[in-house]
Amino acid sequence: MNYDVVVIGSGPGGYVAAIRCAQLGLKTAIIEKYNVLGGTCLNVGCIPSKALLDSSEHYHNAAHAFSEHGIELGNLKVNLTQMIKRKGEVVKSNNDGISYLMKKNKIDTYFGLGSFVNKNTIKVTDAEGKEQQIETKKTIIATGSKPTTLPFLPLDKKRIITSTEALSLTEIPKNMIIIGGGVIGLELGSVYARLGAKVQVIEYMDSIIPTMDRALGKELMRILKKSLKFEFFMSHKVTGATNEGEVVKVTAENPKGETVTFEGDYVLVSVGRKPYTEGLGLENAGVQMGERGMIAVNDHLETNVPGIFAIGDVVRGAMLAHKAEEEGVLVAEHIVGQKPHINYNLIPGVVYTWPEVAGVGFTEEQLKEQGRAYKSGSFPFKASGRAKASGDTDGFVKVLADKETDEILGVHMIGPRIADLIAEAVTAMEFRASAEDVARMSHAHPTYAEAMKEACLAATENRALHI
Ligand code: FAD
Ligand code: NAD
Repeated sequence: MNYDVVVIGSGPGGYVAAIRCAQLGLKTAIIEKYNVLGGTCLNVGCIPSKALLDSSEHYHNAAHAFSEHGIELGNLKVNLTQMIKRKGEVVKSNNDGISYLMKKNKIDTYFGLGSFVNKNTIKVTDAEGKEQQIETKKTIIATGSKPTTLPFLPLDKKRIITSTEALSLTEIPKNMIIIGGGVIGLELGSVYARLGAKVQVIEYMDSIIPTMDRALGKELMRILKKSLKFEFFMSHKVTGATNEGEVVKVTAENPKGETVTFEGDYVLVSVGRKPYTEGLGLENAGVQMGERGMIAVNDHLETNVPGIFAIGDVVRGAMLAHKAEEEGVLVAEHIVGQKPHINYNLIPGVVYTWPEVAGVGFTEEQLKEQGRAYKSGSFPFKASGRAKASGDTDGFVKVLADKETDEILGVHMIGPRIADLIAEAVTAMEFRASAEDVARMSHAHPTYAEAMKEACLAATENRALHI
């Protein structure tokens, strides 16, 4: 078979790249190692984690918030088997959706490991070892990432686990030790804490979600301690773990240099992810690697070999599904001679805890480091009528704007449903809006979105109306 473009990997980067290539009239094929499409995000990432976050949030609200609303339930209990089954069904319906999109766009799908024979020939080896070769003018590598492991803490995938196993547990942990207070640790820790587990987070840095604006991690930590009884051990260096049957002992060095021991029935290792290129045969095509296992690419996401591109988690930048998707579209449009562009500074980051956390643009720490003159306006959800009505008064919206021009430089939020609200900040910033521009736009009342308007008012000469 001969193609204009072959995409290797069917995650959000790969399948979106394939769709855009097909839309632009290119004869396109996609290769996926596993027998389902959708990659990490759909099968063991974004979607299953959000399904469990939603289910566990329903349970937690039923157990702790419903009575305040005048709803009384007796005999409440968790059916974890059903919860995990539903998660599987959600994943399956999305798998089917992507298969449908491949057919609709006349994209040929190959299941098997894709590897370069040379620059224009890709070998596909299926699960039975059967091989076939396909020819292509251009290739887009979208092979994603795998969890980072710690050399002194080998996984047994039963008690010492990664996010993949944590998405399919058969029992609710009694005491879950989480190594790494980043996005995965806090999201999956929230799932099991809501279902009754005691959760202890051991974090190397002095802040959780340390790459986001520091005010967010501080507020999230306060809320998780209060609402889900999370325990945090900050500035702790994990040194090892021993699995003693049903108990795992984790040792760490505390900030005083003392060795401390933690005991739990499950240990989730969530210390980041690393690019995945195993078995790709990059050397056969002459593709060069960059730093830390990533494939090196230029601004058009082209590797050192003309016609071979790489996108998503396997290249530099945030390891996020929507970043991978934007890159897939960019490469497809670049291949046909268009001039696409991605503003990487405006790719939002979201943590789907409750309350949710989101940020876009520069953090306050980055602005200070740049020595940029800025002003800040905040609005707390406790002053929002909508938040009072739903009982979700934790959190705030913080807007950072240029001191002279009033252009919005960063928006950082923690609060109810702000994973959706951050889109307003992205839109405003893409159009280089000033804080006053947003402050003068009508926001429906009562909504959580009014907090964005009020924070912009606060940044504009301290004009917030409701604080
Ligand atoms: P992947 O989704 O990793 O897909 C790569 C695909 O390539 C895989 O299917 C793999 O099997 C295949 N592949 C690899 N090598 C080969 C080969 N040689 N031949 C054929 N196929 C191959 N991001 C968000 O934006 N929002 C979230 O809410 C979110 N939640 C997450 C929750 C968890 C628990 C995890 C682990 C991640 C989460 N992420 C989230 C991150 C997100 O999943 C990744 O950023 C995203 O999947 C990257 O997409 P990708 O297309 O680059 O690669
Ligand atoms: P992460 O980078 O978000 O967090 C890892 C945390 O582990 C950091 O806080 C880091 O300081 C800490 N850490 C590193 N080494 C440590 C050690 N030895 N001991 C203790 N702590 C240590 O990584 P993650 O949570 O594993 O997630 C991986 C990737 O998946 C992230 O890049 C994230 O963007 C993506 N993801 C995104 C979402 C989302 O968008 N909602 C959800 C899950 C995952």
